[in-house]
Amino acid sequence: MDTVMDLTVYGDEELLTGASALINSLDAKLSVTNENSDIYAVNSGKTAAVSKETAELISFALSICKKTGGALEISIYPIVRAFGFTTGEYRVPAAGEVAELLQAVDYTKISLEGETVTIPENMLIDLGSVAKGFTGDKVLEYLKENGVESALINLGGNVQTLGAKPDGSAWKVAIADPSGDGGYAGAIEIANKCMITSGNYERFFEQDGKRYHHIIDPKTGYPADNGLVSVTVVGESGALCDALSTALFVMGPEAAAEFYKTGGDFEAVLIKEDGSVLVTEGLKAAFTPLGRYKDAKVTVITHD
Ligand code: ADP
Ligand code: MG
Repeated sequence: MDTVMDLTVYGDEELLTGASALINSLDAKLSVTNENSDIYAVNSGKTAAVSKETAELISFALSICKKTGGALEISIYPIVRAFGFTTGEYRVPAAGEVAELLQAVDYTKISLEGETVTIPENMLIDLGSVAKGFTGDKVLEYLKENGVESALINLGGNVQTLGAKPDGSAWKVAIADPSGDGGYAGAIEIANKCMITSGNYERFFEQDGKRYHHIIDPKTGYPADNGLVSVTVVGESGALCDALSTALFVMGPEAAAEFYKTGGDFEAVLIKEDGSVLVTEGLKAAFTPLGRYKDAKVTVITHD
């Protein structure tokens, strides 16, 4: 998954070895670049029988693509690649190239029958927006099955917890300052929940004074540019929090607030470019602004 992972488990140390093996085996199935992965097989052959886990995650991702009106779009990969986010050889593709690539972007054309995935000839899919959260869920399931009652795993900044801390108190997890200076914008107390952030400071480059980051708005084919700099989603399912952190980032503050109001079992903290913060009502008490956000304007989003 091209990232750093930390596991803290209160239990048998051997479980760390099992958890690492599980992470590596899921990565080998879900990775878009690993030539032996299920996703690579789908992208190169346009139809492939995949593992049970890959089918499960594709099915889940497609349901969220639909629910978010295509803000989550697992066939956006050719555009992510055109900007160079997969290799680090960054470039801004011309409008014509983006328009052409966009024609192949349409999750509704992905077919999943049992464990066989079929995509159109010019399409490429990528589960990068949901794989870490899904993997975290599987790791926590494994630990729980093996008797662990308290664990915190951090998969590249996505924090997922099992139970509370051994002393019974909640875990206090920080949200990175979106300036990327290593500081914190806030902290949230969670137990038995996940906290997953998508931001425009994680993977980006600058050209002619403009920032190009790795979360693409499928409507335009360019990085989402709607006033948000960071979206943190808190909930029980890591896969859902991961999918929604990406999707809400694409939607922008107004549509994200609207999406929250109309239901969904998640909570969120949205940080805007102007330094203000939106917090959903379920996190109002658990969220503490920190650092340069200490005196930020915080607006609470409520369910209707
Ligand atoms: P990160 O992996 O940095 O934690 P995300 O979970 O938000 O962040 O996933 C971003 C990744 O998802 C990108 O690197 C890209 O591969 C892919 N992606 C970009 N835009 C979209 C989108 N609109 N829908 C689905 N996946 C996307
Ligand atoms: Mg995500």
